[in-house]
Amino acid sequence: MISDPDVVGLLYLVAIVCFVVSLRFLSSPKHARRGNWVGGLGMVIAIATTLALDGISNWGLIAAGGVIGAIVGVVGARTVKMTAMPQMVALFNGVGGGAAALIALSEFHVAVEGSLAGDEIVSIVLSALIGSISFSGSLVAFAKLQELMSGRPIVFSGQNLFNSAILLGAAALGVALVAGVDTEWALIALIALALLFGVMFVLPIGGADMPVVISLLNAFTGLAASATGFVLDSTVLIVAGALVGAAGTLLTLLMAKAMNRSVANVVFGAFGQVQAGAGAARVDDGRTVRATTPEDVAVQLSFARKVIIVPGYGLAVAQAQHDVRQLAELLEEKGIDVAYAIHPVAGRMPGHMNVLLAEANVPYDQLKEMDEINPEFPQTDVALVIGANDVVNPAARSDPASPIYGMPILDVDKSASVIVMKRSMAPGFAGIDNELFLDPTTTMLFGNAKDSIVKLIAAVKAT
Ligand code: NDP
Repeated sequence: MISDPDVVGLLYLVAIVCFVVSLRFLSSPKHARRGNWVGGLGMVIAIATTLALDGISNWGLIAAGGVIGAIVGVVGARTVKMTAMPQMVALFNGVGGGAAALIALSEFHVAVEGSLAGDEIVSIVLSALIGSISFSGSLVAFAKLQELMSGRPIVFSGQNLFNSAILLGAAALGVALVAGVDTEWALIALIALALLFGVMFVLPIGGADMPVVISLLNAFTGLAASATGFVLDSTVLIVAGALVGAAGTLLTLLMAKAMNRSVANVVFGAFGQVQAGAGAARVDDGRTVRATTPEDVAVQLSFARKVIIVPGYGLAVAQAQHDVRQLAELLEEKGIDVAYAIHPVAGRMPGHMNVLLAEANVPYDQLKEMDEINPEFPQTDVALVIGANDVVNPAARSDPASPIYGMPILDVDKSASVIVMKRSMAPGFAGIDNELFLDPTTTMLFGNAKDSIVKLIAAVKAT
C-alpha cells in the first residue's frame, strides 16, 4: 500500500511522461509500435498506483471488472478486421465516456447533502454531460458502421431546433445543479437528456463521415475523463484526459482539413449521399473507359523505370496488402524504382494505409506522403491506383461544383500512364464520378484488387 503522497505523485508523473512520449512515438509509423508499448506501460503504472492507494477496498468487484474488461479488450482487438477498426474505436471510446458519466453520478450519490464544493459540482456536471453524449453518440456511430442500422444520414425537419432544445435542457439542469439544486433526480435527468442528445447528434451524419465524428467524440471522452479527474482529485486522470481531448481535437481538425471540409460541414452536412447518375460509364462526350488485362499491365510494368503504387480504401477491403508488397518486390528485382503514395485521408481512418502496409512489412522509407510524392508523378511511367478513387479525382482541382473541390489530391494523372484497379465504375466515399477513369492515359483493370494483383504477379513473372 502506498500512503506517501510524494511517491504517488512521482509514480503518476512517470505515467504521464509515458503518455506524452507515447503520443510522440505514435506520430510516425516507424515508431508507432513502440508508442503503443510506452503508452501501455504508462497505463499499467497509473492503474497499479491507483490500486495500491490506501483506502481501496472491494477487491472482488475490481478484479471481476478488470478481468471482464481485459477479456473483451484483448479478444476484440485481436479479432477485429482492419476495415472494422473505426467502429471498434467508437465502442471503446463510448465506454470511456459512459464510465466518466457513471463516476460523476456515483460521486454525487455518495456525497453528503450540501457537502459538494462549487468546483466539484461543476466537474460532476461536465463529466456527466460530456461523458453521456460521448457514450450514446459513440454507440450510434458503432451501430451505423457495423450496419446494425442505416449508415446514411437520418434527417427530419426541425432537427436542429429539436437537438438544440435537448442540449439547452441539459445545460439548464447543469446550471441549476451548480447553482445549488441538490437533488439526484436533476443529475439523472441531465444524463438522460445528454444521452438523447448524443443519439440525435450522430443520426444525421453520413456513414463514412463517422471516422471524423468518432475522433470528435473521442475528444469529448477525453474532456469528460479530465473532468472526472477533478471529481476524483486524480492528477493522472486530469492530464491523460486532457491529452486525449487535445489529440482528438487535433485529429478531427486535421481530417476535416485533409478533406477540405469544415468540422461543421461534417457534423451538419449530411454528406455521403450518392450523386444521381454516378457510376455509369459516361459516353456522352465521346470518351469511354478502356479496360485492360493483367497480361497487358504486366508488360507495361516490366518496361517501366519508375512505378508509384497508390493504395486506397479498396486495398483494405480486398486485404491485398501482402500481395502488393510481393508485386513491388518483384518489380524492384527487375530494377524498377517503386514507391507508395500515401494520401492523408485514403481509406477510412487516419493512417489507414500506413497501418495496412506496415502490417505487410513494406519498408517505411518507401511510403511517401502526398507533398513529397506529388512532384514525382510527372517523371513516373506507371501510377498503379489500387482501390483508390476520391484521393486521385482531378475534379478536386478543376471542378468548383464538386463536393471535393479544393481537397488536395495525389496527382496521378500527371504520370505517363495510369492503371486503376477496382471492381466496377462505382464511386468512392464521396459518391461522385471520377474523370480520371476516362482519361486517355488511364486503363482500368477491373476485379477484386487481391485477385487482380495475384494474376498480375503471375503475369509479371511470366514476362
Ligand atoms: P474511395 O472510398 O474514394 O474509393 C475506394 C474505391 O475502392 C471504390 O471506388 C471501390 O470501387 C474500390 N474498392 C472497394 N472494394 C474493392 C475491392 N475489394 N477491390 C478493388 N477495389 C475495391 O477511397 P479513397 O481511399 O480513394 O478515399 C477515401 C475517402 O474516404 C475520401 O473521400 C476521404 O475523404 C474519405 N474519408 C477518409 C477518412 C480517413 O480518415 N481516411 C475518414 C472519413 C472519410 P469498386 O466498388 O468499383 O470496387
